[in-house]
Amino acid sequence: MIRLPPHAAGAIRRLEAAGFETWAVGGCVRDSLRGAVPHDWDLCTAAQPDEMQTIFAGERMLATGLQHGTLTLLTSGGPLEITTFRADVGCSDGRHPDAVRFVGSVEDDLRRRDFTIGAMAWHPERGLCDPFGGLDDLETGVLRAVGEPDVRFAEDGLRILRAVRFAAALGFSVEPATAAAMRRQLARLDCVSPERVRDELTRTICGRFALRALMEFADVIGYALPELKPMFGCAQQNPHHLYDVWEHTIRALGQVPGDAALRWAMLLHDCGKPACKTVDENGVGHFYGHPKVSCEIAGHLLSRLRFSRADAARILLLVEQHDCPLGETDKLMRRQLSRIGEARLRDLLAVKKGDTIGRGTCPEDVAKLFRAEQRLNQVLAAEACFSLRHLAVNGNDMLALGLSGSAVGQMLHALLNAVIEDQAENTRPALLSLARAKMEDRHE
Ligand code: ATP
Ligand code: MG
Repeated sequence: MIRLPPHAAGAIRRLEAAGFETWAVGGCVRDSLRGAVPHDWDLCTAAQPDEMQTIFAGERMLATGLQHGTLTLLTSGGPLEITTFRADVGCSDGRHPDAVRFVGSVEDDLRRRDFTIGAMAWHPERGLCDPFGGLDDLETGVLRAVGEPDVRFAEDGLRILRAVRFAAALGFSVEPATAAAMRRQLARLDCVSPERVRDELTRTICGRFALRALMEFADVIGYALPELKPMFGCAQQNPHHLYDVWEHTIRALGQVPGDAALRWAMLLHDCGKPACKTVDENGVGHFYGHPKVSCEIAGHLLSRLRFSRADAARILLLVEQHDCPLGETDKLMRRQLSRIGEARLRDLLAVKKGDTIGRGTCPEDVAKLFRAEQRLNQVLAAEACFSLRHLAVNGNDMLALGLSGSAVGQMLHALLNAVIEDQAENTRPALLSLARAKMEDRHE
């Protein structure tokens, strides 16, 4: 039993009153049946776009998908995507159907959908339409292609990544024939746009079951992100590490919150290790300089996937700094805060915790990171000074001392640095006299 929200139920009623069979379909049915709240509601209907436009005349709608049979109705309950029952015809580019054909029945419409759990429709009176056994698969946690798996993945390579994403997000196991076809059709990923690859991979690595899925489908990830392949099976030969580079990476990834930047940083933090590996005379592996190499590889990868500059910068900072020691004194902590700010420092703490726990050794290093976090909280609670806006003097004070132009900012930064380094107290008299002293020094 699915309870439809009023905006979806209302639209179904209006379309049916006009004589057009209409159902709720796809992800919203899947999510409702597994007890999750759908993030959006989609309808499929026998009405064609021009008929929908007549029925909803006077309402706010977006006509962006009309040639594919989709109209978006903007209701007070949220946007509602309504699509004519359709079949996709041909798919010569492995991504976009060459044409769409409007079809007569909801069953035909369900046939074009990729996985059985998303190929179900629901109607408030007629109940569930489930021609491919989606409910059984949902209950047993199985992801299964609708129809012939090889054909379905060859039609649209994105489905391969969607499968891994569903495995990572829902913890489902991919049915063996479906998984085998994904692997045979990997080359179809070449046709998928970098943005789509990025978005599916982001959802994959943020999934609650990412660890398992990334282990099982490492080959799929390696096809999409060939830069990561050298990590697979790369032994660390180091007493601080229990796992090879790939297994360490995904265990570390599983330890950080499901935030995209943190997860990407974890995925990429050691990608430079294989290129940096040396083995000393005792047979111990070392990876000197790997954060910098990881950063270079990650930079190329992120720009290839069309990450925004801001997102890439946030991720790369973490990759680059993941191996740097954190503040073990208040002074070091203030330095870090002034350099990267509280938010990035908390990111870095999360990444370092993930990295350390993911090694499987050294619980004392984990304890050290918790102490660092405690210190960070104390430094912040003490309203320590680590940025210009905390300083007891400001630009006007510097102007009053006779400084001008860029000298104002330079002096403020010099004063801030003195406060952070415990060389001056953060009070007006102390800072004004320090500024005067510095000006005199300069004039000598
Ligand atoms: P989510 O909304 O969580 O991203 P979803 O499966 O609902 O997952 P949508 O993009 O909302 O994905 O698509 C709605 C429905 O359309 C899906 O449930 C599925 O039935 C179908 N669908 C989406 N993408 C594809 C695809 N690439 N190939 C075949 N069917 C698809
Ligand atoms: Mg959806």
